[in-house]
Amino acid sequence: MIRFNAVIALATSYLCLFSFAANGQDRFANVTIETIPVVGNISMLVGQGGNIGVSAGSDGILIIDDQFAPLAGRIKAAIMELGSDTPKFLLNTHFHGDHTGGNADFGADSVIVAHENVRLRMVAGDQPAVALPVVTYDDDVSIHFNGESITLIHMPRGHTDTDSVVYFEDSNVIHMGDHFFNGGFPFVDLVNGGTVQGYLNNLEKVLSWIGDDTSVIPGHGSLASKSDLMNFYNVVRDTSVEIRIKKSQRMSVEDIVGEGLSPGYESWGQGFIDEEAWIQTVFNSYPR
Ligand SMILES: [Zn+2]
Repeated sequence: MIRFNAVIALATSYLCLFSFAANGQDRFANVTIETIPVVGNISMLVGQGGNIGVSAGSDGILIIDDQFAPLAGRIKAAIMELGSDTPKFLLNTHFHGDHTGGNADFGADSVIVAHENVRLRMVAGDQPAVALPVVTYDDDVSIHFNGESITLIHMPRGHTDTDSVVYFEDSNVIHMGDHFFNGGFPFVDLVNGGTVQGYLNNLEKVLSWIGDDTSVIPGHGSLASKSDLMNFYNVVRDTSVEIRIKKSQRMSVEDIVGEGLSPGYESWGQGFIDEEAWIQTVFNSYPR
């Protein structure tokens, strides 16, 4: 139970840190929103929290995720530069507060689209009605906007049980949500329906769909390519196998943490999920 509680504590601290901003708005005081061109009419906005995808064109603005509520004004200023401060559509890759925090600010004027479990978990979290997705789906849905098909595809039981990736068919861009932490171990939210095996299965599907020239927007980290996503997948898979082998040899999680992963993964534990947290996640995600 100690191990199980550790994971709950980890998940809780994550949600507090990113959803509820325990220290108020001060931590956002110095955040600026940087606009990074991706390809054609697609951009990525980087501030604090999950990376935002933007389609800007003759139909207007569509955004993917909206970081934290205190940043909504700065996000609106950034998309105003791309054509309008009022998106017609807001897509959520999943329900975490560092990706949906601005929903209450955008929801009055934008149609919010997300997997049905995003809505269910936001309702369970007492989010106001204005912040909730109004269009939901179970497997996938396409939005025909700015001259191309923009498709949300559900990624079952991976990062959470609410996730989708968003594929821009003509632009050949994919927004991965938190199925991609570029350069770091991922957070897999076991308390909210995530599993490491589902996460790997989902990454395999995406890697089979996209090409070498696909632009890949990660949930966290810098703009990437298929080979970056492949590197990430290899690290998640290889470290998971290492941890599972030790678990099958009846090693305790404490002993596996004490022994550490093979050399070469040090840089991957420098982000939000350090090596110990990753080992605990994998250990707890697989049955004995
Ligand atoms: Zn997340």
